[in-house]
Amino acid sequence: RTPKVETFDTRALQQLDSAHFLHPFTDHAALRDKGARVIVRGQGVYLWDSDGHQIIDGMSGLWCVNAGYGRTSISEAVYRQMETLPFYNSFFNTTNVPAVRLAAELVALAPPQFSHVFFTGSGSEANDTVVRMVRRYWDILGQPERQVIISRRNAYHGSTMAGASLGGMPGMHAQGGLPIPGIRHIGQPNYLEAGQGMSENAFGLVAAGWLEEEILAVGPDKVAAFIGEPVQGAGGVVIPPATYWPEVQRICDKYDILLIADEVICGFGRLGTWFGCELMGFKPDLISFAKGVTSGYVPLGGVLIGKRVAHALLEKGGDFNHGFTYSGHPVACAAALENLRILVDERLVEKVALDTGPHLKAAFNELATHPLVGHAESCGMVAGLNLVRVKGASMHECVPFERALQVGMLCRGHMFELGVIMRAVGDRMIVAPPLVMTRAEIDEMAARIWDCLDLTL
Ligand code: PLP
Repeated sequence: RTPKVETFDTRALQQLDSAHFLHPFTDHAALRDKGARVIVRGQGVYLWDSDGHQIIDGMSGLWCVNAGYGRTSISEAVYRQMETLPFYNSFFNTTNVPAVRLAAELVALAPPQFSHVFFTGSGSEANDTVVRMVRRYWDILGQPERQVIISRRNAYHGSTMAGASLGGMPGMHAQGGLPIPGIRHIGQPNYLEAGQGMSENAFGLVAAGWLEEEILAVGPDKVAAFIGEPVQGAGGVVIPPATYWPEVQRICDKYDILLIADEVICGFGRLGTWFGCELMGFKPDLISFAKGVTSGYVPLGGVLIGKRVAHALLEKGGDFNHGFTYSGHPVACAAALENLRILVDERLVEKVALDTGPHLKAAFNELATHPLVGHAESCGMVAGLNLVRVKGASMHECVPFERALQVGMLCRGHMFELGVIMRAVGDRMIVAPPLVMTRAEIDEMAARIWDCLDLTL
């Protein structure tokens, strides 16, 4: 079906936008003169702006449009559900058909230790839920002093009070009275930054050891849980060494601490497995998810609950006094069911593992030969370029961080004009394309990134 082509008055839209729309994470004073880019349409891996420019979306929107744009079967599923039952809540002894079916489908797709799902409207709400859930769990078990949740610096876990507190972004903690009490942060497993003089695997053990140091500093009987993204996304695509997560698991087991995977980005095939923990070799007690569960077509998030926590909450906990009007929203769940059907039927997760993921790696290794790039890494359908390395120097010798930031910002300035969206995060340029991106489209994206780097030289 070809969507009707509308024309837009870009300047008028930008003026309205500037007058009334307060955007997330945006410096409005800096944006005012040039105006926001108005995105009007999407198909496959491409977007179009209000002036008719075609852009290849290297970021899947915000790491979420895994099934690509223009999936009419999702819009039809949403339409049908809206006609049948647009809303009913799941509070007070009621449920609805898409929410029941989706909970069962998610448990079937998740690793075997999971039995239940709690639905939210977003990833931030999922992580807020996790904070209350793990503290409630230890209450039920008669250990209410287990309150502390350990996370990592530069992690991103959302923008709500608890989500942003779990996150370790200094810019976020500087505003709004964060973090909330009982959240501690350790270093991230960033080999390029902190692994000098060590093999990657040796560094993985050292970085996991920071968790044990923190547990001992806090007191093991006060620690409730550790949370981490299998591969840190918004913090700059930080791919941990293979030794890291198994060692984190060993430490959590040793001190009987709950292990939480924030799979808001890594879940639903991004790394070439259904969940990132499967690739990274650990077995979390809880998984927070969002984004790829509906490919972003309708907001939905949630927490997958392992049997250990589910048993306490369901059998011994009475009411869990927590929930959102839109927990188990039937329309969002209908969108998720159709989206998951697409991922399964089109074998998109296997494709990432065996075909497009390796192709993206090869394309990024090629980009690493550009004079502005020192190092490239990728995992499934996420990839990053380090802009700061000195050509020919060791991986750990950087030109100043400020220069990398400057390069990143310049690149960002050129991206839209060259028709590609990627993100500048600190000293890295990163992508997380839709899982449907073909080899030819990966090559096209990489060529546009190369041109963008060239213009920045
Ligand atoms: N967790 C991770 C790892 C994320 O990347 C994000 C969003 O980017 C969130 C949580 C928050 O999700 P949301 O923006 O849906 O609240």
